[in-house]
Amino acid sequence: MKHLGLLGYPLSHSHSPAMINRLAKAKNWDCSYQPYSIEPEYLKEFISEVRHRPISGFNVTIPHKQTILSFCDEFSPEVQAIRAVNTICNHNGKLIAHNTDVFGFNYGLEQLTKEFTSIKKAVILGAGGAARAAAFALAKMGCNKLIIASRTDHRKIEWQRDFVAIFSMTNISFCPLDQAELEKHVQDTNMVVQTTPVGMFPEEDETVSFPFHVLTQDQLVFDLIYNPPKTKFLYQAEKQGAKIQNGLTMLAVQAAKSLEIWGLEVEVEEVVESLEKVLN
Ligand code: NAP
Repeated sequence: MKHLGLLGYPLSHSHSPAMINRLAKAKNWDCSYQPYSIEPEYLKEFISEVRHRPISGFNVTIPHKQTILSFCDEFSPEVQAIRAVNTICNHNGKLIAHNTDVFGFNYGLEQLTKEFTSIKKAVILGAGGAARAAAFALAKMGCNKLIIASRTDHRKIEWQRDFVAIFSMTNISFCPLDQAELEKHVQDTNMVVQTTPVGMFPEEDETVSFPFHVLTQDQLVFDLIYNPPKTKFLYQAEKQGAKIQNGLTMLAVQAAKSLEIWGLEVEVEEVVESLEKVLN
């Protein structure tokens, strides 16, 4: 049997274990996918145990996406570029780090930008692992101005070190995650990407501080949260006429890509179907 799982803390919000176990049953895979709820201080211990256990691989989520880097042995090109990990493959104790969020975000972006020729300026809310995946995909598609809005600036130095070196054509600047500060940046932007966990189940009534009144129908708004399917953030953006996208297909695509890395082939539509069944 193939042993897979999800490493994070806390994991109560995640539907990935139910979604992948349901999928495994439907596809007749001999595998199990279990939650590994590990607090940051126990990460090192968990990793050394994994190397000696028959665990083929696992996904990585909040808060380990970046701290796990120092425990990995090999890195995919995406991980080398954005320095965030969401999938680990265990090859006889050697841990290979991948980032399939980049593929998931790209897919969602393609769906959202069908009628748009290009995204030249984007605002990203949040500065964590998912924000890095979004910035990578946007810069690669030719976005030449990115504004990262964050509640703290402790990640600013890392971003400047990692991104400025790779994306010399993309100007990256920072601003506080605050309605008044964001107002001047959002007005002439093509796209807003919401990558913080604010508004996620069970805190559906929450939203980040954001100038919704300046949004128009010419703008695209992507919230990476998939539960609830329409966050308060997306609801407010839609009310202003903006074209919206949630994180559901992104989740399905990144899951399909992770499964492929572990040797399990699946169509994105099958993952979406499994996820929808779990959510309903
Ligand atoms: P992460 O690396 O921990 O980063 C989270 C970011 O959000 C950080 O910049 C953090 O700020 C900020 N943040 C957290 N709580 C906040 C609050 N109350 N107010 C303002 N900012 C806050 O996490 P991640 O992996 O990037 O994931 C972020 C979100 O994206 C989660 O909701 C996750 O479920 C979602 N996601 C979805 C998919 C998908 O497939 N749909 C994939 C990946 C992630 P600090 O920098 O100050 O800590």
